Amino acid sequence: MARHASPLQSLLVDDRFDGDVYPNEPMSRHTTYRIGGPARFFVRANSIGALTGLIDVCAAEAMPWIMLGRGSNVLVADEGFSGVVIALGRDFRSSRFEDGRFMVGAGATLSSVVQDAFRRNLGGFEFAVGTPGTVGGALRMNAGSREEWIGERVVTVTTYRPGRGLLRRRGSELDWGYRTSSFAPDEAILECELAAVPADPFQLRDRMESNLARRQQTQPLALPTCGSVFKNPEGASVGRLIDEAGLKGASVGGARVSDVHGNFIVNAGSATAADVRALMEHVRRCVRANYGVDLVPEVRLVGFDGAGRPGREERHG
Ligand SMILES: Cc1cc2nc3c(=O)[nH]c(=O)nc-3n(C[C@H](O)[C@H](O)[C@H](O)COP(=O)(O)OP(=O)(O)OC[C@H]3O[C@@H](n4cnc5c(N)ncnc54)[C@H](O)[C@@H]3O)c2cc1C
Repeated sequence: MARHASPLQSLLVDDRFDGDVYPNEPMSRHTTYRIGGPARFFVRANSIGALTGLIDVCAAEAMPWIMLGRGSNVLVADEGFSGVVIALGRDFRSSRFEDGRFMVGAGATLSSVVQDAFRRNLGGFEFAVGTPGTVGGALRMNAGSREEWIGERVVTVTTYRPGRGLLRRRGSELDWGYRTSSFAPDEAILECELAAVPADPFQLRDRMESNLARRQQTQPLALPTCGSVFKNPEGASVGRLIDEAGLKGASVGGARVSDVHGNFIVNAGSATAADVRALMEHVRRCVRANYGVDLVPEVRLVGFDGAGRPGREERHG
């Protein structure tokens, strides 16, 4: 007897579904680390109807799902993710400028906003020059430097939660911390309004150029990475602690602590997620032993359980 397709399978094979569906898609194709096993489904949702329909079906079937932007802050397990990875396509990539604000889809790149602001002689985004990723990923991570972050620029943000529907909130209604935001775990960020401030064009150019130059001098940009692996502990630089502990150049398999910046673990060619995890644990142990400091990962782990072993999935975005 033929098995019945689940509602999720029916949705994904329906010709009217406005999205691109890739079963068993290697996540190494969608992460800046170029690491990660297959997602059961990788789906690019092109419209709000496709996105909300997909999330609702996942929620009804208790199928794990996560949102993914550029994959520039994630480490996906070698075993992959046995759920649906959702990226934002066509209708979520637009950006327009009105009344001193950028209205941006969460699937647009953060760099497109930075460049647009620069062209218009507007400031407020210089800290983000050279930060890869989408606007949605940046909001979720509250991307930024130590002193400035994207949450400060958010006027409003629109999200979708299964069971709650579309939500529009002011940026001031959310909590923004160091690489954290108060979006619910099962909340997909769809679009936002970002405030820009008038700026002197010469000072703006100077700030952009010096931020970019600092990044080029201090980060290993030629190799695949996820950016900073750990969060800076209060009052300390994790890169310096790792450097002083003599860990630069330490490696496990194809993963290596960067010689350029101690808080970057690079994929030197053939690193697996297990290599990166093992090296992260080594670094944590050494830093704890030397300084009594417990490092907390900044990188989001996908497809690992709480102890860092593959298995249980993170449930939502
Ligand atoms: C070379 C390099 C330099 C970097 N420099 C910086 C830096 O200076 N400052 C900094 O803060 N970060 C930096 N990063 C890290 C990373 O680029 C940022 O955190 C970025 O904002 C992540 O965006 P993304 O679209 O790639 O998100 P992803 O990595 O795809 O996802 C990150 C998290 O956001 C969630 N997410 C993504 N999209 C959505 C959405 N639409 N709705 C809800 N949740 C979503 C994901 O589920 C995941 O939990 C750097 C990374 C690299 C590789």
